[in-house]
Amino acid sequence: MGNCSTCASKSSCSKKGSAEGDSCGKMMPKYGEIKNIIGIISGKGGVGKSTVTGIMATELAKKGFKVGVLDADITGPSMPRFFGINNERAKILSDENGENITFTPVSTKLGIKVISINLLTEIEDQPVIWRGPVINGVLNQMYQDTKWGELDYLLIDMPPGTGDIALTVMQSFPLTSMIIVSTPQDMVSMIVKKVVIMTEKLEVPVKGVVENMSYIDCLNCGEKTRIFSKKPAAEHAQYLGLPLIAELPINLDLVESLEEGLAEDYLINTDKYTFLIDSVK
Ligand code: ADP
Repeated sequence: MGNCSTCASKSSCSKKGSAEGDSCGKMMPKYGEIKNIIGIISGKGGVGKSTVTGIMATELAKKGFKVGVLDADITGPSMPRFFGINNERAKILSDENGENITFTPVSTKLGIKVISINLLTEIEDQPVIWRGPVINGVLNQMYQDTKWGELDYLLIDMPPGTGDIALTVMQSFPLTSMIIVSTPQDMVSMIVKKVVIMTEKLEVPVKGVVENMSYIDCLNCGEKTRIFSKKPAAEHAQYLGLPLIAELPINLDLVESLEEGLAEDYLINTDKYTFLIDSVK
C-alpha cells in the first residue's frame, strides 16, 4: 500500500485500473477509466440516500455525462427498482476455468450503467445472509470486475451507517468526495454526525449535506409544511459542520413514479433537481 496524503483528491494517483491498486494504494476498477467517484451516504436508513443517488445520476446523465451507479447497499439494494430495471440481469462472464469473472452492468434509458447485487442474483427478494467479510468481498468484486468503460462519474450508493462497507469504501476506494444525506430530525442528525466524524478521521472530502424530506408543499394552498423539525435546514447543517447543498421536499409525484419504476422518466421531464449537479462538479 502506498502512503499518499493526496489520495482522496486522486489528482496524483494513476487512474488506470489494476487489481493491486493505483500509485496511492487505492483499489481501482480493472475494466474502466473513471474520472470521479462520489459516495452518497447517510447515518440512518430510510432518509433518502438511494433516492438522492438516483436523482443525481439521472441529472448528470441528462447533461451528457457518462455515469455509473454502484449499489453498495448489499443487504438492502434499491437502485434497480429506482431505475425500473429490476427484471433485468447483469451478464456474468468467466474464462473456461471459471476464473476472471466480469460483470456487464445493466444500462438505464439514459445509459447509466448500474450494478447491484439484485442484478446478479436470480430472485429479487432473496435475502443476502452473509457475514461482513463476504459482503466486503462481493462489493470489491462488483466495483473492480464490472465493465464500467469510460465514466465521468461513478456514484456509490452506500449502506447506512459506519459499518464494514463504509470503512472499505472510505479507506480503499479513490473517492473524489462524498455527499451526506439527512432528514431534519435531531435524532437523525446525531447519527449522521457519526458518519461526518468518520469521514474526518479517514480524511475523505465531503461536499456537503442534502437535507431530504425537509417539508411538503400543501396540495391545496402550496404552503410549506415542515413535518419533522421546525428548525431551518441551515441549523442542522451547521451542527454537522457541513455546507448545505439542498433542502429537498417530500415529492409525491416522485414517490408515484418510484412505485411504478418510472423515476428516470419522471426526472427526464422535470428540471426540479437539475441544480443538484453543481454539488458534484
Ligand atoms: P435510504 O436509501 O436512505 O434507505 P431511500 O432513498 O430508499 O432511503 O428512501 C426511503 C423511502 O422514502 C423510499 O420509499 C423513497 O421513495 C422515499 N423518499 C425518499 N426521498 C423522498 C422524497 N424527497 N420525497 C418523497 N419520497 C421520498
